[in-house]
Amino acid sequence: ADTTPAKDPGATGTGNPPVDGSELIRFDHVTKRFGTNTVLDRLDFSVDSGKHVTLIGPSGSGKTTILRLLMTLTKPDEGTIRVGGQYLTHEERNGRLVPAGEKHVREVRRNIGMVFQQFNLFPNMKVLRNVTEAPVTVLGLSKDEAEARARELLDMVGLGDRCDAYPTQLSGGQQQRVAIARALAMRPQVLLLDEVTSALDPELVAGVLDVLRDIARSTDITMLCVTHEMNFARDISDQVLMFDSGRVIESGPPERIFSDPEHERTREFLGAVR
Ligand code: ADP
Repeated sequence: ADTTPAKDPGATGTGNPPVDGSELIRFDHVTKRFGTNTVLDRLDFSVDSGKHVTLIGPSGSGKTTILRLLMTLTKPDEGTIRVGGQYLTHEERNGRLVPAGEKHVREVRRNIGMVFQQFNLFPNMKVLRNVTEAPVTVLGLSKDEAEARARELLDMVGLGDRCDAYPTQLSGGQQQRVAIARALAMRPQVLLLDEVTSALDPELVAGVLDVLRDIARSTDITMLCVTHEMNFARDISDQVLMFDSGRVIESGPPERIFSDPEHERTREFLGAVR
């Protein structure tokens, strides 16, 4: 993606904007097991601020687990995770690194927004309120401020005229676009996208991907996406990480990974999803 300055700084940007090109996410030797199943095996990787990184690989290779670790929906068994230089897994107390407490985790996690496969909108709230709820309750924005920001974001995702609808009155693609606006309303530094089009009817996929392409192009947000949409991955990614059995088996710019993969497993995988 290009690195032109944000055209819409209202959509992203936080109190402490990251320096362009600095490391925003870092996994060091992260191991995650479920019972005897080692899902991530001493994983190391990092994502620089403002970059768009796509995780590809066969089902069960650990991609979603990485996003869930960043959202603190699950914890690593070993290793450390840092976001914006701060440990997500640990905190410093008296000069020593100890397992992170809840308050520390909440603070670090505030920099991260996520969009799920299944939208997960609040069904009892209108579209506008879905987007204003967390900025008001978590960030302490006034209702007016939150609404102004929400309307701007809903315009950006093409739903400025549906503020008063309930989620069930919208198509899946529209609901997912509300979910994107809702995530951005918290002004995260990082947006995690977990197969956001895989629950959609085929004709609704393009609209959602177009919105994400637009966000990737016009804001400074860092993106980490798990997707099976290889054309989308090719369009938006600065870097593609190919996973197999909990390890990155190769990584590089999309032009190379997609046209000249080094690894036999990558060739097989790309052959199967195309
Ligand atoms: P991917 O996103 O690449 O399809 P996942 O990260 O979802 O892979 O899953 C990796 C492995 O972890 C799979 O074998 C899956 O069955 C297992 N797994 C994921 N979540 C859990 C869980 N909560 N309990 C047990 N096993 C899990």
